[in-house]
Amino acid sequence: NPLLTIKDMSITFSSPDEADIEAVRQVDLTLTPGKTLALVGESGCGKSVAARAVLRLLDRNARIPTGQILFDTGKGAVDIADLKSDSLAMRTIRGAEISMIFQEPMSSLSPVHTIGNQIDEIIVLHEGLSPRQARERTVALLDQVGIPGARDRANAYPFELSGGLRQRAMIAMALACTPKLLIADEPTTALDVTTQAQILDLLRQLQDDFGMAMLFITHDLGVVAEIADDIAVMYLGDVVEQGDVYEVFRAPKHPYTQALMNSVPRLQRKADRTRLSPIKGTVPSPKDRPTGCAFTSRCPHAFGPCAGTRPERTLVSDGHVARCHLLTQVKQEVMA
Ligand code: SF4
Ligand code: MG
Repeated sequence: NPLLTIKDMSITFSSPDEADIEAVRQVDLTLTPGKTLALVGESGCGKSVAARAVLRLLDRNARIPTGQILFDTGKGAVDIADLKSDSLAMRTIRGAEISMIFQEPMSSLSPVHTIGNQIDEIIVLHEGLSPRQARERTVALLDQVGIPGARDRANAYPFELSGGLRQRAMIAMALACTPKLLIADEPTTALDVTTQAQILDLLRQLQDDFGMAMLFITHDLGVVAEIADDIAVMYLGDVVEQGDVYEVFRAPKHPYTQALMNSVPRLQRKADRTRLSPIKGTVPSPKDRPTGCAFTSRCPHAFGPCAGTRPERTLVSDGHVARCHLLTQVKQEVMA
């Protein structure tokens, strides 16, 4: 059974003197227990917004006008889209079932408390352990995320740790309640290459140990190749292509996915490396979204219907879906 099923979810932002902006449009996503789904796209494509909706951590001017966010609590599915951000049900899910890590650890760590006290507090609150028992768990967790001398380091303030260790402390805090789902928003983007590789290894290891699912947000396809089972590629609020990572990397169907892959040297076959090419043009503002396909203004294959009609989700192969008129056109030719 899926752990999280997002169906037809849209997210809009309102502002007093402008029209509403649709940041996420009719997105469908599924997360299986113990698996990693990578949400990929350039900055501003709606991937962070979509992920924050799952925790109901959206800005005040955001709404979820359509769709469901079904989360399996183990005692039946809850529609998170129906929950108020500050309701008891949502706060329980946020503390104990789903947690989140960020690019910048200081957005979840408090600068004025030791890391040990911060993690103890969560364990005491959610697991009902005594402070002494909680500290034992905290030390074990800090040890598990690879912080050397965990018992002593628990008494350190975040500023006393290196960037990599702070990142590990944030991960320990996110895992304090053994969540079923960890949302990771670009957790390695600010790190140097070596530390990035270590943190990805750690997350994979912890996923094996804890059995949690991960929703991993990144703009880096190299990271996707390292960590994800499934991928959803976003462009201007649309999921333009999704499916099994191996399948999508082997045979990307959407011109945007193809362009993204052509711009990453590590993913290129040796013979193709000479064709390494950045994507031409810039992402339009969501305020000036093209009427038809979101990618029209940059797509090298744009043709007849693209500017006027939004492409439907088209099944390419088992679980592999893309939104592009080229796919329906080919289909029609086959059928004719
Ligand atoms: Fe390009 Fe048209 Fe496909 Fe959009 S629908 S990606 S513009 S070919
Ligand atoms: Mg972001």
